[in-house]
Amino acid sequence: MTRRTLETLSFDNTYARLPQAFYARLNPTPFNAPPYPVHANRAAAELIDLDPAQLTRPEFTALFGGSALAPGMEPLAMLYSGHQFGVYVRQLGDGRAILLGEVKNDQGERWDLHLKGAGMTPFSRDGDGRAVLRSTIREYLCCTAMSGLGIPTTQALCLVGSDDKVYREQIETAAMLVRMAPSHVRFGTFETFYYRKQHDHLRTLADYVIAQHFPHLRDADDRYVRFFGEVVERTAKLIAQWQAVGWAHGVMNTDNMSILGLTLDYGPYGFMDDYDAGFICNHSDHNGRYAFNQQPYIGLWNLSCLAQALLSLADKDALKAGLDTYQPVFEREYLKLMRAKFGFIDERAEDDELIRDFLGLLQGSHADYTIALRELSTFSTADGATNEALREQFLNPDRFDEWAGRYRDRLRNERSYDDGRRDRMNRVNPKYVLRNYLAQTAIEKAQHKDFSEIDRLFTLLQDPFTDQPGMEAYALPPPNWGKHLAVSCSS
Ligand code: AMP
Ligand code: MG
Repeated sequence: MTRRTLETLSFDNTYARLPQAFYARLNPTPFNAPPYPVHANRAAAELIDLDPAQLTRPEFTALFGGSALAPGMEPLAMLYSGHQFGVYVRQLGDGRAILLGEVKNDQGERWDLHLKGAGMTPFSRDGDGRAVLRSTIREYLCCTAMSGLGIPTTQALCLVGSDDKVYREQIETAAMLVRMAPSHVRFGTFETFYYRKQHDHLRTLADYVIAQHFPHLRDADDRYVRFFGEVVERTAKLIAQWQAVGWAHGVMNTDNMSILGLTLDYGPYGFMDDYDAGFICNHSDHNGRYAFNQQPYIGLWNLSCLAQALLSLADKDALKAGLDTYQPVFEREYLKLMRAKFGFIDERAEDDELIRDFLGLLQGSHADYTIALRELSTFSTADGATNEALREQFLNPDRFDEWAGRYRDRLRNERSYDDGRRDRMNRVNPKYVLRNYLAQTAIEKAQHKDFSEIDRLFTLLQDPFTDQPGMEAYALPPPNWGKHLAVSCSS
């Protein structure tokens, strides 16, 4: 593997070669106070062939704290728009982030280096262009958590702080985060040109995205419809993974929907503690538009916005047919993931009901989703087994016993062996998730310049399925203070 320095990173800025209407060129605005390193991600550095030894150089902090540029970077703010809480907003765009450039690694993969919190841009509207340390830590850790869980996501390369003050609900300090993804194009990027009736730009954008990310479709006559079909599939599968792990995004606006089906833009997200189908993680989402159990439907709604934006490129009925594949793909994928979480190998007609009933029991008992599913792997199918540790999670033991009887019969029916099943289930039911209160603890320490908890969580969450010695406390339910922390969009 090539080991590059900051000075020899290999850039190939394809987005900067698109028409000028797609972005605004500008450099990051440095902090006033000197930038300081908070954390850096060696695994992400390897994706761009960057020698991990570079992560500790002062030049690294200067570069990703917005006060320097590397040779080959062509910084720009991307234009996009989107539907926010169901309402179309004509112009959003990178209001506080700057695409520094695209690194091409030795395998020919391209990675956007996107600096979040880099200062005002022509798209900042009323914002100050900054991100607070709190929100960048949340994004940094959740990218790590999602990667560890095997859920498609943008990556985070590093976090750089500063003592500059930022005014939110409280006075906080600023930070910048480098986000990496093969592309930052969103559903809302397409919507911009559709609503502006700039059909040439729309075609240019679609051809660009297809050439870069769906190259197998490049020469197909029906490439736009097939491209849309693949976005539908990726999105359905992504949201099935969110549902299976009990994670809510919180702000599923179309400008936060990745055209590559990645989890994008971490704001007031949340992993569920107590199972609650109606879980609303975003404090500002008063109507629960983005509640946990609405996410599958919102995915479809957002895809219908994308379909509309593609109307000048593709036949309406064909796009509609693409949309119609969403629900079956989602359901198949969700059931597949849940079957694995319940330890089933065969597919049986009763599985859906068995799974739903278990979730219903969790909801009625305010039981912890992650803990209950992890505990389920210890289930014994032996005669007379009471499965006490699991049973304790439920308020009504009789109802649990009734369910457990059906579960045992179902497992015996496919000749499931307890030991083998436990190992299989532990590979898909995480022991550790990024509970809000864990992130909050790391944030509060970091606000006093102690980054040890970020590092601890970063290491833990990279491997969430393995019991890690000395980390038992991180697998417990939240303490009372950490149960219903308010997290909102203001970050
Ligand atoms: P988000 O809620 O983070 O997805 O942001 C929605 C839109 O608001 C995007 O266009 C952001 O770039 C913009 N935005 C959010 N916060 C700020 C800020 N502090 N300054 C400027 N623009 C912002
Ligand atoms: Mg956003």
